[in-house]
Amino acid sequence: MLESLMNTYARLPVSFSHGEGAWLWDCQGRRYFDAIAGIAVCGLGHAHPAVTRAICEQAGRLIHTSNLYQIEAQARLGQRLTALAGMDRVFFANSGAEANEAAIKLARLYAHQRGIAQPAILVAEHSFHGRTLATLTATGNRKAQAGFEPLVQGFVRVPFNDIEAIDKVAVNRTNIVAVLVEPLQGEGGVIVPAPDYLSALRQRCDQHGWLLMVDEIQTGMGRTGRWFAHQHSDVQPDVMTLAKGLANGVPMGACLARGEAALTLGPGTHGSTFGGNPLACAAALAVIDTIDQSGLLEQATTLGEMLRTALAQELDEVAGIVAIRGQGLMLGIELECDARPLVAEALQAGWLINVTAERVVRLLPPLIADPADLQQLAQVLGQLIRSLLSATH
Ligand SMILES: *Cc1c(COP(=O)(O)O)cnc(C)c1O
Repeated sequence: MLESLMNTYARLPVSFSHGEGAWLWDCQGRRYFDAIAGIAVCGLGHAHPAVTRAICEQAGRLIHTSNLYQIEAQARLGQRLTALAGMDRVFFANSGAEANEAAIKLARLYAHQRGIAQPAILVAEHSFHGRTLATLTATGNRKAQAGFEPLVQGFVRVPFNDIEAIDKVAVNRTNIVAVLVEPLQGEGGVIVPAPDYLSALRQRCDQHGWLLMVDEIQTGMGRTGRWFAHQHSDVQPDVMTLAKGLANGVPMGACLARGEAALTLGPGTHGSTFGGNPLACAAALAVIDTIDQSGLLEQATTLGEMLRTALAQELDEVAGIVAIRGQGLMLGIELECDARPLVAEALQAGWLINVTAERVVRLLPPLIADPADLQQLAQVLGQLIRSLLSATH
């Protein structure tokens, strides 16, 4: 049966029939704790009643009309998101890569309107921005790019969390229009920059007239304990992209902008057939209401601190741990060795975890997770990591 699918994913040998909250049930009726939440998508967990209700009600009335017409729910969602983010306008797409494509096109048009014929966007090493040709080029991972050349022009790569490198590039180039960064790198290994990195970037962007574009596709929608991770600082970006947690699993992406940047894309310059359709907007509105009404930002902060403390206790003085880091419910445990064997071991024990950048265990549990379950997750994971490391140390 699987032979009919293109072989693009290394899938684990399990498939799920249903879920509830932070738990998933496989087709044999076995229960698993979902500590990855569909890769930071199901922030409200599975089958959240408010999201289910919103989707069912909307599907019973209207799923799609296209952007040939006004869409009331899209306008309402736009208002909610721009208010939460301190932005002026939003464009809706259907995925993270598409949200970033919109940001990249916006930056290029913004440059052309200012007489920069060959604009370039600064991007970081170890970044992840998607799998379309332009977002793949923006992504700082040579392995992901190999075989897809020719790549797209107009990107300049600098080390992440390195302001000096940016200053050096700025000296030699007059065609830079924007900086595109994740406030906290996800796929790259849950890499947290210095606390003043974003504000230093903001200052350089102001100095040179560049747009500060933050990719909050993984970090947004409460994941780190704020609506958007850049809100841990007082920095206001010019462009921000969202996707993963935005509609709790209904495909949706968004590119928000403020000021001049928000006025760049005009009629006919960009579009999407599905983008911002009534179904996805209804789901996203329910997500925002729920995060708001259930105090899930505070909960992500407290649960994140609790899980991190529990992990630190479990792994205290264990040789082979490089770091335990992250923000809110986006946590990484970096090992000195390949951490990938842990995924299958945790699965066998009934816990869904993820490993990124080969050596970093990544945890992205739902914001609605039960504290006791997270305590147990730390215990199970602590044990698995200790035994993996004792085999190599
Ligand atoms: C997942 C992700 C993307 C790509 O999103 P898709 O919906 O898979 O296209 C882009 N940027 C970041 C930071 C991501 O985590």
